[in-house]
Amino acid sequence: MKNKIVLITGSSQGIGKTIALKFASLGAKVALNDIAAQEESLKKTQQEIGKDAKYFLADVSNHEEVEKMMAEIAKEFGGLDVLVNNAGICQDRTLAKMTQEEWQRVININLTGVFNCAKAALPLVVSSQGSIVNISSIVGQRGNFGQTNYAAAKAGIIGFTKSLSKEVGKLGVNVNAIAPGFIATKMTENLPGQMAGIIKQLTSLGRFGQPEEVAEAVIFLASDKASFITGSVLNVDGGLSA
Ligand code: NAD
Repeated sequence: MKNKIVLITGSSQGIGKTIALKFASLGAKVALNDIAAQEESLKKTQQEIGKDAKYFLADVSNHEEVEKMMAEIAKEFGGLDVLVNNAGICQDRTLAKMTQEEWQRVININLTGVFNCAKAALPLVVSSQGSIVNISSIVGQRGNFGQTNYAAAKAGIIGFTKSLSKEVGKLGVNVNAIAPGFIATKMTENLPGQMAGIIKQLTSLGRFGQPEEVAEAVIFLASDKASFITGSVLNVDGGLSA
């Protein structure tokens, strides 16, 4: 990863931050991204990494902000080797109670955000013959109660990944997805009722994953060691999908 230029969206905390720290520890130059409301924690992450990291505020669901961020990254770093589409939210509610706004917000950030970032990054990633890693979810493969919006977006990411891999494979770009199971981050710290216990029981390894365990898989898929892997979905779920 020495001197590779990597953009990780949604990297002020959680899995995204862990991915950024891991790339930086391997010598990569890291472009951090998050929304303006997260600027303080994004700045802290940048300071933890030091001069090899810069941060860029942009809402991934906003096409113009993403275009602007990509132009700034090209200017600051001179290109882009790896795009990690990690930014995501959940707004859970059963379909009967879900509002149009809750549906749209999750689709806009989790799915259209991937489109916006991949589209804007594509010329840079093609010219570096780099790679794209999209963070999907086991929920996009299996569904989950109260998550029709999230599941639809995460399933959409898988279709997007497979289609884009066919479009850009002959240009030397690999595109893959990771489907994490339940990982210990802010997103999963307030699961309702007995849910955490039930999930652990259903997970072969009997526990939630750690962000580092997702980061290792991202590093692998972004590395030359995964040079013949494209259009694939790697489950990092402790056996929950087995
Ligand atoms: P998190 O909430 O800790 O981190 C998500 C980050 O994305 C936050 O920093 C947030 O500010 C940022 N973000 C939100 N909206 C954004 C936007 N519009 N533009 C830019 N950044 C935005 O959650 P996490 O658990 O670290 O999740 C990271 C990714 O992994 C998400 O895509 C999530 O869906 C996925 N995932 C998480 C789990 C899990 O169990 N934690 C499981 C499967 C998939």
